[in-house]
Amino acid sequence: MRGLYVHIPFCVKKCSYCDFYSLPGRLDSLGPYVQAVMKESHKYAKMSFDTLYLGGGTPSLLGAKNLKLLIDGLGVESSSPLAGGDSCEGVRMNKFHSHPDLSHQGRGKLQNNFTEATIEMNPESTTPEFLETVKETGFNRVSIGVQSLSDDELRSVGRIHTAAQAISAVKRAQKAGFHAVSTDLIIGLPGQTWKILNKTLETLVGLGIHHLSVYCLSLEDGTPLAKNPPDNLPSDDTQVELYDKTRTFLIGRGFIHYEISNFALKGYECKHNLNYWHGGEYLGLGPSAASHLDGKRFRNNADLNTYLQNPIGQIEYIEELNAQNKAAEEAMLRLRLLEEGLDTHELTTKYGVENVQDVISRLDGMVCEGLLTCENSRYRLSPSRIMTSNPIFARVLLK
Ligand code: SF4
Repeated sequence: MRGLYVHIPFCVKKCSYCDFYSLPGRLDSLGPYVQAVMKESHKYAKMSFDTLYLGGGTPSLLGAKNLKLLIDGLGVESSSPLAGGDSCEGVRMNKFHSHPDLSHQGRGKLQNNFTEATIEMNPESTTPEFLETVKETGFNRVSIGVQSLSDDELRSVGRIHTAAQAISAVKRAQKAGFHAVSTDLIIGLPGQTWKILNKTLETLVGLGIHHLSVYCLSLEDGTPLAKNPPDNLPSDDTQVELYDKTRTFLIGRGFIHYEISNFALKGYECKHNLNYWHGGEYLGLGPSAASHLDGKRFRNNADLNTYLQNPIGQIEYIEELNAQNKAAEEAMLRLRLLEEGLDTHELTTKYGVENVQDVISRLDGMVCEGLLTCENSRYRLSPSRIMTSNPIFARVLLK
């Protein structure tokens, strides 16, 4: 399994908590950016991918014309079977074909056979026209940056949309025929209480969303929020309580807590991200995008200007992991999958007993301490440790 990620590093305005690589006030670069991504993608001609994920930034700022150009340039068929969008599972196949408009370029193109194609959208730019193009170009999954359905909470971190706009965006996506609608939600926003969060959750679940990504607000170095944190930020203990209540609420409504930050109705888990947590291969295009191919990890420079000048020469570092390190990293990633967990038989088959024995003894040590559970050869994070999992993951990786 191999995933393709395309980073769209543009936003209308920076949210106060955000440390992703995204730039406000550069919308005039959207057209040249699409051309640059197409150029970078040609470097990986003949490579095929199972999933596509357009993330950001704000991919919905691309607009219909740029989205079509980008998808055509990546070799995705515009009127693909996926465009019907009625597949709940999102597993209908999108067949690669040579796009005649690109043949004059004399270059190869990515060869794709997507089982899932996701685009991230922000509520204010989720217009009916753009959704129509998203549908036409073959996406079968949309992820909407709702974050909260309280206008006070949204304003407090500089989000530029309202709760009403977020609700409308979800409804418009559903009306456009998307069954697989995911929304992002932030826990621990300034002034947030369970009463407010509960209302947000009730509304989203009532709208019929199938997937929810839940992130805890953190003060990232250099962000305006970290430099000037408001007095009414929920304490760490309150954040844990809000997270626990959210988990209980969503499980009670039939959602599977399949990954630390992700909940889905059965069959609606994000395949693109599952591949990442399974230690699979992925290619990231665009500034700051990370890749894992042929046993190597590499990342592009986070610099839009140099990317526009030379999109194929932006690799900032390459790391080649040995089998032991790869096994430990995959063990750590798989432990994020709360239901599925980590099967050490599979890990041993993949990497060899000599490369997994150390990590297994570390896992066993943590089972004795109650941090992990083990059933046959399957290890899982103890539910009580979900919110304090980082030190556990660090110990899995310990060399
Ligand atoms: S919209 Fe998303 S990527 Fe853009 S600034 Fe806000 S959080 Fe960051």
